[in-house]
Amino acid sequence: MGKIIAVCNQKGGVGKTTTAINLSTFLADKGKKILLVDMDPQANATSGLGRDKKSITQGTYEFLMGLSGYEEIKLEAQIPGLSLLPSNSSLAGAEVELVSLIAREFKLKEKLAEIKNDFDFIFIDCPPSLGLLTVNALVAAEGVMIPLQCEYYALEGLSQLMETIGLVRRSLNPQLDVEGVVLTMADFRTRLTDEVIKEVRGYFKERVFNSIIPRSIRLSEAPGFGEPILIYDRASTGAQKYEQLAEEFIGRHLHSGGNVSEPEKETYNGKDLPESPAEPQTETETDQNLSAQNIE
Ligand code: ATP
Ligand code: MG
Repeated sequence: MGKIIAVCNQKGGVGKTTTAINLSTFLADKGKKILLVDMDPQANATSGLGRDKKSITQGTYEFLMGLSGYEEIKLEAQIPGLSLLPSNSSLAGAEVELVSLIAREFKLKEKLAEIKNDFDFIFIDCPPSLGLLTVNALVAAEGVMIPLQCEYYALEGLSQLMETIGLVRRSLNPQLDVEGVVLTMADFRTRLTDEVIKEVRGYFKERVFNSIIPRSIRLSEAPGFGEPILIYDRASTGAQKYEQLAEEFIGRHLHSGGNVSEPEKETYNGKDLPESPAEPQTETETDQNLSAQNIE
């Protein structure tokens, strides 16, 4: 009970927050008890769930530093079963303040230990960096979910993330494992998307979720209204795909306790990820693909 999953990729704008919000809401919709921890000073998960980050006076920062308890800080999201540990810009200070603390990498783990078993899953929306906030998330977590944008540079920088995961696993958190890779913002009209999907599957094998999230205008609009896609437009393709992802996620946990079989180490130990990804392909828009499912 109570599995903690860090949604992590130090590259910015790849769909971490969108995935964290929408996977969380669909899982809650399916009866799971979920906590979403906003670990990013940008507080996009907080605002994406309709909370004004400027009005947050107690959040992840106070939680981490032991200044306020979970019960004082947590907010209930629009979906029953989904709670939010909100963030605001004061969390940026934690990155610096944590440096001088003893067991600084373990602060989040210690704090979450007290509430972990009140939930089925706790998702941590990480900032786009590999600093102490992300390391705290990786130390607290059992699984890392890696969103990858279907674009030319999708795998660039990933070796650094895999090295960090390996380092944390060896020295701070032996149970850490790659939970899965979520391909986001796919544009099925382009050959590049197919190439990226093939390449990512080549490295991460069955860890790549079959549910691929398309580029969707509705998904990009929803945070502006402070609503998860389930509320903003449940009929949209983006919503359907995130719902499918939630079902796939639940299925994996039913069958294997979450982590699919251990892939061959060399496929994801970082060293073997390409320094530069595959050659870019000319983008083609075939008639067949123009009717693609992905653009709303
Ligand atoms: P950061 O690194 O800044 O935290 P992130 O990895 O959390 O970014 P998101 O905030 O989820 O990425 O997404 C980046 C931008 O792309 C946002 O404006 C978001 O609304 C948009 N976006 C995310 N997923 C999709 C999608 N499938 N289709 C269209 N737009 C998307
Ligand atoms: Mg984000």
